[in-house]
Formats: sequence, structure tokens, C-alpha cells
Amino acid sequence: QNVANQISAGEVIERPASIVKELIENSIDAGAKNIEIKIEDGGRDLIKVKDDGHGILADDIESAFNRYATSKIENIDDLYSLYSLGFRGEALASIASVAEIEMISRHQDSDQAVKIKLKGGEILDKKPVGSTIGTEIIVRDLFFNTPARYKYLKTTTTEFSHISKIVSAEATANSDLSFKLYHNGRQILSTPGNGKLKDTIYAVYGSEIAENLIPIDIEDRYIKLSGYLCRPELSRSSRSHELFFVNGRPIFNNLTAKAVETAYNKLIDPGRRPIVFLFIKVNPILVDVNVHPAKREVKFSRSQIIFDVIKKAVRNTLRENDP
Ligand code: ADP
Ligand code: MG
Repeated sequence: QNVANQISAGEVIERPASIVKELIENSIDAGAKNIEIKIEDGGRDLIKVKDDGHGILADDIESAFNRYATSKIENIDDLYSLYSLGFRGEALASIASVAEIEMISRHQDSDQAVKIKLKGGEILDKKPVGSTIGTEIIVRDLFFNTPARYKYLKTTTTEFSHISKIVSAEATANSDLSFKLYHNGRQILSTPGNGKLKDTIYAVYGSEIAENLIPIDIEDRYIKLSGYLCRPELSRSSRSHELFFVNGRPIFNNLTAKAVETAYNKLIDPGRRPIVFLFIKVNPILVDVNVHPAKREVKFSRSQIIFDVIKKAVRNTLRENDP
């Protein structure tokens, strides 16, 4: 059983940032308003995610670590819809199989919390403790029993930059939630959680970007686009600031990136990349999110239509706002 979980862990957990992403999405699914993430040494020493969501009942806490024990699939259609974030039911089982994980959770209907500790898939401890409503998860000793994977980890700086990128994207995708991120005790990020995308972009990406945004809002038969483009004068040397969200989730997709870059073509220097925060709403049947469970690549059917709509919308929006 643990070997199966370790194999599945290889799919789900590529690096500390993948754990952070899974834990954040669980907190979002639990209806959290505040999510606090604390990282030590790029996630090698410690990953801690604390939320104020609905929590887990004491009776359900062990089964949360069983593979495929998701509480999120009610019927087969849910598998195809993007509206629930986690639906594979294997993140916690995978993490527990390759690390030490401690969970303290208090359900909203309970006046006590439970603390459970697992390592290498085995329960080491379980006991009632005092805590506020919500869930806190602490991951230590990552890849302790899979040395080949441990060796593959990059420097603290690189691993933390992956984490920071994921938290930034999740915070931007969820401007109604407040995110706080710390690395080695230092606060790196704090978003207001006031539901305003612009304020969130300001908090995450800074004033220069936030003061040069152009709103985009277009509805087509197949897709709806919203969010912000950034003036072409501001650009980056990589795709680091091209953010795409499909039906509310941060995703990577080469097609959407290409469409936006084509629209910016000639407005920015060769080799430079635009800054965009583009929210794409499409009918879930046009999207397949699980192309890669960890990397969150998506595939669109009718990709040509999507490409054309995005390119045209971005081009027109830039033109209309040409000073
Ligand atoms: P999935 O999210 O796909 O259901 P996970 O392995 O990520 O699978 O989580 C297993 C289960 O544990 C979830 O279905 C949920 O019931 C519970 N759970 C995990 N994290 C939290 C959390 N932060 N708050 C409340 N419940 C949680
Ligand atoms: Mg999950």
C-alpha cells in the first residue's frame, strides 16, 4: 500500500511547491478565508499551511490519508467539472508516504481538535488537542525514504521561488481570500482578501505593475475573458508574469500564452514577455485539467477558437488603450 502511495507521490509531489499547492487547494476547498503558509529552507525543513476552513471531524481524520478517500466526488459528473479543486483524493496519502506529516484539525461542529501524525504512511500518534476551528498541516523530512527524490531537490532559493510562484498565483486567483507567506521567519507576501483583484495584484506583484494595468472584459459564445493586461512598456524576460486562470484555477497552457504573445507582438521588444492576469471562463467540457496532475497543464478542445478569441480580445483591448 505504501509503495503504491509512493509511486503516486512521484506523480503528485515533484517538489516542495507541489505540496504547498495541494495543501492550499485543500484549504480553499474547506472554505477558508485566511491561509497562512510558513516555509523553512525552501520547504526541505518545513512546510506549514494553516487555514480557518470548516475543518475535519475527529472520526474522519484518519481516512483523509487513505488513497482515493476524497470527500469531494459526489457523482461522476464532478470528475469532469472544474468547480471542485481537489478531486483525486490522493494528495494527503502521497505526502504522508514520503514525509512526516502532522495535522491538527478542529471541525466547526466540534469543540475539540485532533492531532494526528504520520510518517512513511504509518500513523505515529493521534490525540485530542485544543485549537481553533480550521486545519493546520505541518510537513517535515520530505523524501526521507526516497533518497533519489531528495537528491533531485534544487537549492533553497530555487525551491522557494517555485513555492512563491504558486502562492502568488493562488492568491491572485482567490482575491477574496487572504494569503500570508513566510520564508525562514520573514514575511514574503500578504494579500488583503478583500475580493479586489487589483489590490491583490498590488500586494503580490508590486505598485509598478498594479499602476499600469488595463482591464480586459470580453464575452464570446465559447469563452469569457476578464482580468488585467499590463501596458506593453512593462515586460519581463520570461513568462514568469503571464498568469492564466481557467474557471478560477491557475493553469499553464502554451496555447493561451502564445495567443497573448502574438497580440503583444511588435508592441514589446523581441525576446520580452508581456505581463498579464487573464481569467478565462469556458464550459468545463471544453477543458481537460488533468493532463498532468501536478503541473496543472490544461488542454482545450476547440483550441483554435480559444486561441483566436484571446488573441483578438487582447489586441483590441491594447489598441483601445493606446495612449
Ligand atoms: P482531495 O482534496 O482530492 O479530496 P486530499 O488527499 O487532498 O484529497 O484530501 C483528502 C481529504 O481530506 C479531503 O477530501 C478533505 O475531506 C480532507 N481535507 C484535507 N485537507 C483539508 C483541510 N485543509 N480542511 C478540511 N478538510 C481537509
Ligand atoms: Mg486535495
